[in-house]
Amino acid sequence: MALIEIKNASMGYEGKIVLSDINLKINEGDYVCIVGENGSGKTTLMKCLLGLLSVQSGSISYGDGLKQSEIGYLPQQTVLQKDFPASVSEVVLSGCLNKKHTLFYSKEQKETAAKNMELTGIYPLRKKCFRELSGGQRQRVLLARALCATHKLLILDEPVTGLDPKASADMYALIKNLNKNDITIIMVSHDITASVNNASKILHLSKNTYFYGTAHQYLHSDIGRKFMITDCPCDDCRHNHRGGALQ
Ligand code: ADP
Repeated sequence: MALIEIKNASMGYEGKIVLSDINLKINEGDYVCIVGENGSGKTTLMKCLLGLLSVQSGSISYGDGLKQSEIGYLPQQTVLQKDFPASVSEVVLSGCLNKKHTLFYSKEQKETAAKNMELTGIYPLRKKCFRELSGGQRQRVLLARALCATHKLLILDEPVTGLDPKASADMYALIKNLNKNDITIIMVSHDITASVNNASKILHLSKNTYFYGTAHQYLHSDIGRKFMITDCPCDDCRHNHRGGALQ
């Protein structure tokens, strides 16, 4: 069974359907980028996946024993987050609170936080104050925090927004590495080129329609051709591109 299956789903708000008749499966190990213009419904879909909003009709089901509370979520950075007066390790540990509501962190939770700080390269910064960090470092802390809630699925909302090119490239490399280590990724992005270069599947939401398929299929689709300015980077196409245009 798929990790997530959306069947005939309509999503939206009271008196307003934003997305209708969505059918798609996300499998374990997929790296899905959700793209689309502002207002196309990316956030609405994310809220439904996280269980913050109910589907208006149809269904979203989860396979492999996944519970909504076990989805790691990296929200968009806000000004408030930047000023958070806590240490790096406290911020990361707070990601474990999803699981158990106790006053103290268990040894297991502390080990999980330490492992995720190692994984995201921020362990040496663990005693620093969160607000003293650079934008890229802060995003890695919040990624480690999101990882504390899951070992299966991460949902990331525009994780490189506001980062410089080097920090963005580092973030993309880190996310790719997590995906290689069996974490399924669903990422909302405004950067279609980076999405195609990194993701295995693209979900492009557009007014009254959507595209869902591999990055390769996307680049050869009408909607992909309209939005993309680069050639398909896959091995087959690169081969075809030798000496000229796409065949
Ligand atoms: P995106 O994330 O792609 O920019 P959204 O999912 O935020 O798009 O919004 C899709 C549509 O839903 C927009 O027309 C937006 O105005 C509307 N919308 C978003 N949140 C609400 C809400 N809480 N109540 C009613 N309409 C909303």
